[in-house]
Formats: sequence, C-alpha cells, structure tokens
Amino acid sequence: MISYQIIEHGKPLQKRLLDTPKPQGTEVLVRLTRSGVCHSDLHIWDGYFDFGGGKRFYVKDRGCVPPHTLGHEPFGVVAALGPKAKGLKVGQKRIVFPWIGCGKCAMCADEKDNYCMAMRTVGVIKAGAYSTHLLVPHPKYLVDATGIDESFAATLACSGVTAYSAARKLSDLSSRDAVAVIGCGGVGLATITVLKAIGVRNVIACDVDEAKLATAKQYGAKLTLDTRAPDAVAKLQGLAKGSLGGVIDLVGMPATAALGLAALRKGGRYVICGLFGGELQQPLPSFPLRAIGVVGSYVGNLRELKEVVGLAKKRKLRPLPIATRPADEVNGILEDLKAGRVVGRVVLDFEAVEAN
Ligand SMILES: [Zn+2]
Ligand SMILES: [Zn+2]
Repeated sequence: MISYQIIEHGKPLQKRLLDTPKPQGTEVLVRLTRSGVCHSDLHIWDGYFDFGGGKRFYVKDRGCVPPHTLGHEPFGVVAALGPKAKGLKVGQKRIVFPWIGCGKCAMCADEKDNYCMAMRTVGVIKAGAYSTHLLVPHPKYLVDATGIDESFAATLACSGVTAYSAARKLSDLSSRDAVAVIGCGGVGLATITVLKAIGVRNVIACDVDEAKLATAKQYGAKLTLDTRAPDAVAKLQGLAKGSLGGVIDLVGMPATAALGLAALRKGGRYVICGLFGGELQQPLPSFPLRAIGVVGSYVGNLRELKEVVGLAKKRKLRPLPIATRPADEVNGILEDLKAGRVVGRVVLDFEAVEAN
C-alpha cells in the first residue's frame, strides 16, 4: 500500500510504499478511494496544539510519533475480511468511523467511543487515511453511505459528525432563538447545514473573511457578521434580536470565546469545538448570574455519524463545496489549508495513486 506520512513534524509528507496489512480476527481491510483533509491535520502535522500562555500539547505525548500517516475522513471499498469479521462483503463501499475507542469499556459498548479513555483514533493515534489502504478493527465502525457522493461521504466522518454532535449539544432553543456559528471553514459550513436540517431558522454566520461569509449565506445562514467590527458583540446581539440561544465556535481562540460568551442571551449555551488555542478569562459569577453554559464538543460518536449520514441520505444536508484532488498533491493541499486558501473541503482521491 501507499501511505503519505509525517517523517518529521512540519516538513512535507513523504510517499512511502508499505506492506499492505492482512486483516486478523474481526479486522476489515478497506481500500480507500477518498480521504478528506481536515484543518486539525495541520496541528498533527505541526506536532502540537497551542494551549495558551506558551503551553503546548504535543501529539507525541499521546502516542502520535513519526512515521505517522495522517487522515481521519476515510471512505473506501471493503477489500478483505478477517475470519471473525461478520456482516460485510468484499466490494461494499463504506465510510470508516475514525473515532475508535478501546472497544472494551462501558463508553465503547454504548457506542460513545469518543469518550473512551484509551482511544485508537484513525489518523491521530493509529495509522490514518492518507493511504490507499486502512485496517479497521471491527465491522461496526463501517457505515453504509449508499447514494451519497463519495467525497461528501468522506467528509461526514469528521466535519459532518463534528457539526452534528455540536448542534445536538445546544439545548432549550425556542423558535425565536438565533444560533451563531463562528468560523465558516469546512466544519462551519457543515454546522450551518446541520442546524438548518434540524430546524434552526435563524443561523448567523461569523467570520473575518468576506468570501467565507458569502459562502455561508449560500449554505443557509440567514445573516452574517464580520467579527473584526469593534462593536461585534452588540452587532451579534442586534442580529439575533437579543435572543442568541446558542453559539457554536469552530475557531476556539480567546477573541471568539469572548464574543460568543458575551453575546449569548441568558440561559444560552456556548459550544466550543475549535482547537485554535489560547486561554479563557471570564468572570466566574457570569456563568450562574446569566445561567449560561459552556460545553466542549469533540468530534462525535458512532450513533451520531449514522444519524448525520441518515440526514445526508434524505438530501437534508447541502454538500459542502468540495474539491476532489489527486492524493499526490497532498503537500500543496496542506499548504493551501494553512494559508486559508481553501473554501469548504479538499478531499484526496486515491484511485489514481501509483508507486513512484
Ligand atoms: Zn477533522
Ligand atoms: Zn473504550
């Protein structure tokens, strides 16, 4: 198999020819046709997340040590089954759920693998999807996506399920409530379409990039806000007519957290997904006095992936602007993503990959 690997953090990925694994036990070998390129791949490529105040969280401390294959939005064709892998046939096309836990604990038994304390995440802990082949530990992690475009289906494994899980963490919304989505990259647009699909009428897209705001409007945002405005908090409250019931922050930096928390109505909920980094300074009494909630949302679980795939099958989600590009262009794609030149999502195409 061919994998595009981190050999040294921050340096171009290298194309490597590796032995194709043979599935054992309940394992399934998937020949990948598509693999989405996610913004969080940039952090893993760099080797750390910024935790603010000069503190860094190094991915090597979680077992992610080069050589490492990135990629956690896999889609492909079942190529081989271990002797105990049941319920699948060679040739079936599937999304691979990447947020795989230990498979043994109570959380995993409840299909909440993303809350497992011993995760085996594809592309983070384990070998990822920037590869022609991927070994999956159990058939249950393969989700049928018949009828959905392959590139779009791939993006549901991270951006789709992340958006869905975040939207599901908003609570007690009334029909008058507006919801702000901060950060209108791939996951932001996915969040807007999910919010529309689950019945939120007034979605306010927030970003610092006019082009991204214009795209957000095409994807169902009713109103938009350039968050560089000096009076952004008052503007956001005005757009929400004083009833901002929820904020989903896909950036996650001090400025966006401050904006979201300040603009919420009483009882509103701020959901943080973005991993940009930094620290939050907020007067503690503001939480009880305004009865606001803060909740972190990390990707999503297997059940949520199946639910968001269900919405996509019913044509309730508008697919993101997706550019499908040959896998050999992966380094240029990562640079484009880092420089903010990507609107929506880039998905790698592995059908034409050759060893060279
Ligand atoms: Zn991702
Ligand atoms: Zn577990």
